[in-house]
Amino acid sequence: MPTFEYAPAPESRAVVDIRPWYGLFIDGGFVESAEGDAFKSVNPASEEVLAEVAEAGAADVDAAVRAARSAYQTVWGRMPGRERAKYLFRIARIIAERSRELAVLESLDNGKPIRESRDVDIPQVAAHFFYYAGWADKLGYAGFGGDPRPVGVAGQVIPWNFPLLMLAWKIAPALACGNTVVLKPGETTPLSALRFAEICQQADLPAGVVNIVPGAGATGAAVVNHADVDKVAFTGSTEVGRQIAASVAGTRKRVTLELGGKAANIVFDDAPIDQAVEGIVNGIFFNQGHVCCAGSRLLVQESVYDEVLASLKRRMATLRVGDPLDKNTDIGAINSSAQLERIRTLSDIGAAEGAEPWSPPCELPERGYWFAPTIFTGVTQAHRIAREEIFGPVLSVLTFRTPAEAVEKANNTPYGLSAGIWTEKGSRILSVADKLRAGVVWANTFNKFDPTSPFGGYKESGYGREGGRHGLEAYLSGADHA
Ligand code: NAP
Ligand code: MG
Repeated sequence: MPTFEYAPAPESRAVVDIRPWYGLFIDGGFVESAEGDAFKSVNPASEEVLAEVAEAGAADVDAAVRAARSAYQTVWGRMPGRERAKYLFRIARIIAERSRELAVLESLDNGKPIRESRDVDIPQVAAHFFYYAGWADKLGYAGFGGDPRPVGVAGQVIPWNFPLLMLAWKIAPALACGNTVVLKPGETTPLSALRFAEICQQADLPAGVVNIVPGAGATGAAVVNHADVDKVAFTGSTEVGRQIAASVAGTRKRVTLELGGKAANIVFDDAPIDQAVEGIVNGIFFNQGHVCCAGSRLLVQESVYDEVLASLKRRMATLRVGDPLDKNTDIGAINSSAQLERIRTLSDIGAAEGAEPWSPPCELPERGYWFAPTIFTGVTQAHRIAREEIFGPVLSVLTFRTPAEAVEKANNTPYGLSAGIWTEKGSRILSVADKLRAGVVWANTFNKFDPTSPFGGYKESGYGREGGRHGLEAYLSGADHA
């Protein structure tokens, strides 16, 4: 195979102007935190401090919820849907116009390759706002009754893996339905949410409709537990999801939880192998594997195991790990030292339990947080790397002989967020998909997202759906039993 040398092709940082300090975004303006607390956001590819960010404490969260309540009662909750739609369309257009700046900022703060932030994250963010803008004046036709009402103030907590996209998944449907929001971004990735706050100002969104309260877990808990929050929406780990479910139990709050996953990506012996290998690579190495619906368990039919593995290794050897801002980079930086530690620990456990790791030769940068793309073979269902979410570029490979065995193994997990099926046979796609306990099942593709398509889990992957018409339900009152 000929090897090509790539010249560096870095995207320019000049398109983003990062201020040294950011305040909390409350009631339409940027403010200091009441206690004066702050934290730093770093670029995980270089460990460079990008900005200092005010950290919201309980008093700040209270101020944000009060601003959201007031905006809900006086403006947003009363505004006709067609008027709300104008603001959402305006926000969507500004995001599209500023997409290059947002993509670079996202890659700087998160570590994901610019190719992904530019071609996947930010276009999807704009698409979500466009899509839900379209619903704002048509809610009476969404199947939730003729005159559905908003819920009120939504408290939203999101993770660091798709910072702006998770924000869009949360804020766009909430606003379209007439709710106001208080959102806490991931602690390691607050910058694009704060840039979104500036976009809300640019769009003349009424003050208090969107409030952004950066901080760590305690800030998230203050949002979730605030007595005047009507609806809680959370994306993150099953562990924190469990705490949130417990803390809102017995209150009037509505909750949706989008938690972890351990998806099976199932390759049958009649699958087009090259295409399947692309899907396997996309399934686990997209976004460094920091994806709740990642195809982290590869199930290969025994008769094609050798062929699939050889082809997968060949393909992995071409993956380029390094500078997230380089347009040729496939795999960027691990988001934080804590996440890198977790990936290392679970990989070490995988090796200690007898599975065999393999990585292509690749040079990792000296500074920053990096982990080479890795596959483990000889994995059994009892291994921790087959059961626990690693949330990194690490694939566990298992085998099966019959479709029934594939289904049994795929479902043998406490999670149920997503799955993939690779086969030429349409009837097999339908019969296997029908038996998989997963919220999303992809066939002959993986990690395909679209604002019109609902997303969510079974079992410990959480409950409720985001996206599509279904995603409106959580933000409309009286829609529970529609
Ligand atoms: P996490 O701890 O669940 O964090 C998710 C969000 O919740 C963050 O904004 C976090 O703040 C906040 N939070 C933490 N403790 C909280 C509490 N007690 N009450 C309310 N909010 C709280 O997840 P993580 O630490 O980012 O990652 C840990 C693991 O979670 C990963 O290894 C992965 O397995 C899983 N994960 C899943 C998803 C997903 O999309 N389903 C996304 C990310 C992570 P901080 O930013 O300060 O932590
Ligand atoms: Mg960061």
